[in-house]
Amino acid sequence: MKERFPAMNRCRAVAAHGRRCVQTPFMTSPFCWHHTARTDRDALRQENMRSEDHAKLSIDRIVHILGDREVTEIAEFLESGDQGEIRIERRGDQIVAHTERTGS
Ligand SMILES: [Zn+2]
Repeated sequence: MKERFPAMNRCRAVAAHGRRCVQTPFMTSPFCWHHTARTDRDALRQENMRSEDHAKLSIDRIVHILGDREVTEIAEFLESGDQGEIRIERRGDQIVAHTERTGS
């Protein structure tokens, strides 16, 4: 059976409890930003300093910080064309994104 969407790359890290990390890999690393060692991240950055990599790096970092649910909410709001606002808020250790629609 042909896949409708190409399989998404995921980080290869597996936590102690056996659950696999769901973040996207960082640049050419098999691991996400969080699971790629800092020295390796620095080396990868120096290898690839093109603007598209900068953008991908920033997106990967934002996805890691916000989590898939928040990022999906933001993406759906941006694609909708609805009027309103996105607010990203830090509450203690948590980062929460809010979208508020005021009409279309
Ligand atoms: Zn990971």
